[in-house]
Amino acid sequence: MASLEDYVSGKAVADAKKALAILQSGTEDLRGTPIGGKLTTALASFSPRLVDMAAAGEMIEKAHTVAVGVRMCKEIDPESTHTEAVFLDDLAEAMIAAGKANPAAKPDAMAALRKYPENRLVVSKIEGKYQEICRSCRETCVGWHMERRGLKCFNR
Ligand code: SF4
Repeated sequence: MASLEDYVSGKAVADAKKALAILQSGTEDLRGTPIGGKLTTALASFSPRLVDMAAAGEMIEKAHTVAVGVRMCKEIDPESTHTEAVFLDDLAEAMIAAGKANPAAKPDAMAALRKYPENRLVVSKIEGKYQEICRSCRETCVGWHMERRGLKCFNR
């Protein structure tokens, strides 16, 4: 299971970088392969879901703390398209304390997500709770690359 510490320490980015290197190294379908199974298991605890702005707004409204920061995987490829993520609750507090995200009022968090309408919103569980809302970027997103390689990643 991904932890707050994984996000703060950079382990989550390092793990994503390793997964991306595998996924970007080919085009063949990975369904039924050992590496496909390993990637699917590694992503399972995030339970990534595609959501719309209404669902993201409900999550933001319920959160006790909200922060906005550059999406985690942009660090892997700084030249990739700029999009942001909203962090909620304990993850927001941890990311603010680590200087990796800025506290945000709820309307400002919504405005940050509205900036990139062509990119799908992905919510992910950290420590068993949905605490990350990301305007995903297909260039560096592990989930979208898994789907490209035939591995179902997102609940829709
Ligand atoms: S784009 Fe995908 S891999 Fe990157 S932070 Fe967002 S959800 Fe995670």
